Amino acid sequence: MLNFHTLINITQFPGKKPALFGGRRMKFIIFMTEKNRRNFFAILLICILIASLGGAYLNRYARSGREYERQPGAELLEISKDLSIYDIDVIFDPENARLICKQNVKLVNRDDIEFNSIYFHLYPNAFKEEKRLPFLSDEKDAAYPNGFSPGWIDLKSVSIGDSPVDYQIGGYNNNILAVMLDKPLKPGGSTDIAMEYSVIIPNSIGRFGYGENTFNIANWYPVSCVYDHSGWNTDPYYAIGDPFYSDVSNYFVNIKVPSGYVIASTGDIAEIKDEGEYRIWEIEALAVRDFVWIASERFEIGSRQVDQTTVYSYFFPESRESGLRALDYAAYALQIFNSCFGMYPYRQFSVVQSDFFVGGMEYPNLVMIDKNLYDKEQLFWLEYVTVHETAHQWWYGIVGNDQIDEPWLDEALTEYSTVLYYGHRYGQDKENEIYNIITGEGTQSSLEKYILDEQEINTAVDQPIYKFSDWILYDLIVYRKGAGIFREMHRITGDEVFYEILRKYFENNKFSNAAHTDLQKACEEVTGKSWDAFFQRQLE
Ligand SMILES: [Zn+2]
Repeated sequence: MLNFHTLINITQFPGKKPALFGGRRMKFIIFMTEKNRRNFFAILLICILIASLGGAYLNRYARSGREYERQPGAELLEISKDLSIYDIDVIFDPENARLICKQNVKLVNRDDIEFNSIYFHLYPNAFKEEKRLPFLSDEKDAAYPNGFSPGWIDLKSVSIGDSPVDYQIGGYNNNILAVMLDKPLKPGGSTDIAMEYSVIIPNSIGRFGYGENTFNIANWYPVSCVYDHSGWNTDPYYAIGDPFYSDVSNYFVNIKVPSGYVIASTGDIAEIKDEGEYRIWEIEALAVRDFVWIASERFEIGSRQVDQTTVYSYFFPESRESGLRALDYAAYALQIFNSCFGMYPYRQFSVVQSDFFVGGMEYPNLVMIDKNLYDKEQLFWLEYVTVHETAHQWWYGIVGNDQIDEPWLDEALTEYSTVLYYGHRYGQDKENEIYNIITGEGTQSSLEKYILDEQEINTAVDQPIYKFSDWILYDLIVYRKGAGIFREMHRITGDEVFYEILRKYFENNKFSNAAHTDLQKACEEVTGKSWDAFFQRQLE
């Protein structure tokens, strides 16, 4: 997540910053004879023909969606063997802003204890009551431009095999579903839990809801809570940070939508079938920790191949130029992070222009970006936010973590990865400039100023999201002060060792959930020294 409004408030960057690049021009000097001149115009005509065919291709593409993806890579096939499986059939009814769903979860017990019940998050219920929304009070008008509109999940049945089972819905906002198993689930065993439910989508332009252009279908289905050393993690949907924590699983999702809609989503498109006035999108996503999709009647799509991944940019027709820039930012970032951290294992990655008021938000294989950042005057921020959310594909997406109790672990590393992108793309001076603006002097003065205003503040980086009272403090401490930890690590170790540490951390923890002790372990494995003192000092 990157809260654009907070960022604008506390950096010294002007809101209207021209693009960082675009000044490079290629010069053609053509010496032409009469014959060459004729050839030149013939070639020019062919170029125009190809360009117009290309334009037609873009339009056709926009109507029929993406190409079918190739087979997932061997690594994903291997890792996916032992994971839980979500099979979900969805009928999307945009007229009534509703989803009608049938879901079967083959839940694999990968822990070493027996379970008598399994817990699921019901995130849509956080949007039901106006007094308990996952937005701060000063965000409400922006989240609901047309006034409050409720959203929720209406669970109709839960069964195991063909038999209904007992279940309870409870917790803050009725956000947790407890399914009582008919017999204990043993370590290594699995059980099939079937549910039928409908989801009411609010007229809200947050992560979950719809606006004028897009339906943002995020955190929408019952997803299993994580069981870890602290037991079941049944946290509510907090207003600050990204209050999500999940295990990687395999997803097979069929979405039936009116034919005019294009779907951007997590996962590979296996097939698209037409059925009367509907189109069924069959999507497969192996080894991902969530499944998100965004539907629009207005998407155009640009794409570019980077290593084994096709990068897509979904944008509205009036934002084509910026949409193609977003594609360029994401493609560059993917390439840089592939070489710095380790290879992105998925076949596709999408950057999606959305009705989304916060800035940017990461999900597996897909990031949603506030449509307003596609304004020509906001291109600096479009790049910054797109790169930040792309870096999350590594830190959050592939290497997971408890984003409630240790939010700094992914956010701070993501923020610092964004700074590194500028260095790799534009040179060391630009990296330093961005670091100073984003995390340097701006941070110190803003944090000090904040502390002067409010005396009793714990400024330790390592705090859970519910300890923060507003986005500004959260941003200052978790993102900026947090990025300073990685800057210091980088300064101490130098380039070679620093990247070796990040690659080790990535390799050791991919497709699982890491804690900061795993980061420390990677430091120690690479350098052969204790990093106790460093982490104690930095996390205070
Ligand atoms: Zn973030």
